Amino acid sequence: MDINSQNIEEIVKQVLQNMQGTTSAPASSKDIPDTAHVAMLTELEKFEIKEYPMPAIGDDDILVKVEGCGVCGTDAHEFKRDPFVLIPVALGHEGTGEVVKVGKNVKVDSAGKPLGVGDKVVTCMIFKDNPDITMFDLNKQNVGGADVYGLLPDDDVHLNGWFADYLVVRKGSTIFNVSDLDLDSRILIEPCAVLIHAVERAKTTGILRFNSRVAVQGCGPIGLICIAVLRTMGIENIVAIDGEDKRLEFAKKMGADKVVNFKNYKGIEALADGVKEAFGGYEADFAFQCTGSPVAHSNIYKFIRSGGGLCELGFFINGGDATINPHFDLCAKEITLVGSWVYTLRDYATTFDFLKRAKAIGLPMSDLITHRYPLEEINEALKTNLAMQGLKIAIINK
Ligand SMILES: [Zn+2]
Repeated sequence: MDINSQNIEEIVKQVLQNMQGTTSAPASSKDIPDTAHVAMLTELEKFEIKEYPMPAIGDDDILVKVEGCGVCGTDAHEFKRDPFVLIPVALGHEGTGEVVKVGKNVKVDSAGKPLGVGDKVVTCMIFKDNPDITMFDLNKQNVGGADVYGLLPDDDVHLNGWFADYLVVRKGSTIFNVSDLDLDSRILIEPCAVLIHAVERAKTTGILRFNSRVAVQGCGPIGLICIAVLRTMGIENIVAIDGEDKRLEFAKKMGADKVVNFKNYKGIEALADGVKEAFGGYEADFAFQCTGSPVAHSNIYKFIRSGGGLCELGFFINGGDATINPHFDLCAKEITLVGSWVYTLRDYATTFDFLKRAKAIGLPMSDLITHRYPLEEINEALKTNLAMQGLKIAIINK
């Protein structure tokens, strides 16, 4: 692109932005500061805002000005215990921002969509050379275990995580142009991809259909997004199960038809009857287990009809063993069980369309982000997450 057409593009963009009532000028090289700020976890439960010189951007690199980043359970674990032995580390992997500089070899994103300065982006995994996870159309394997910005060891670049004001995306990374999604939607992409994958796994059983009765156990962010995904697929007969009325109210707003508070029932038989009653006298055709509780895993079989299906996705980390009776719970009822963990690269792209549909049918996705903190208050943000307050907590840069 020659300088003149670049200028015209920027002028048009500025005019459009002014028409929309915003005053921020499009980013260009002249706006890039000499230094960047990174929230570096320097010891357990302590982030320090470090200032580093802005690194040089190579021919295959992309400099992103960070707009925001969700706080994940993984960040909370790392903050509290450093299980990955990464300290000092720049955390934050559920981030999004605007491209402010690209190397000369960068033309398109990982889906082949044009990519340049001014585009809003998210990153997925940084791939080495495993063809099972890098083939966009033939995902054999989920991306669990691949490297990701926000869980990389510190190096000379330092701008390795999204809890920062700038991030350098390097060669071999997956990056997506998601300029057509609003900031909140972009922050929710990563957790939503977990549910897109879970529902894809559920669909492999052949049991999940338009008129299926579906039980969703657990109404934290994962269970609530599960309901939203089912709803955008046209599944309406959803019963949500949780122990907190506030979360169950939210489940209704996300599209749950009926809700069951397990605290109102004594014992699993009574609870199973309660779920059956909520379905108008029927057991569930399919159930999603979205809690990390072993007891919840043991219980959920009792809600499912003979020949029904179950997707277990609540155990993102090892939450211990669960007891089931293989005869009664699995064999006699002929339950089809699938497990789900993280997502494939394909699911990541599907998630962008899900978020557009969710917005179009009026699901309150933005309300999932209950707490917003500036980067300087990242320690408070992580403590809020550890205190199990709210749903999704996000760092939003000014
Ligand atoms: Zn995460």
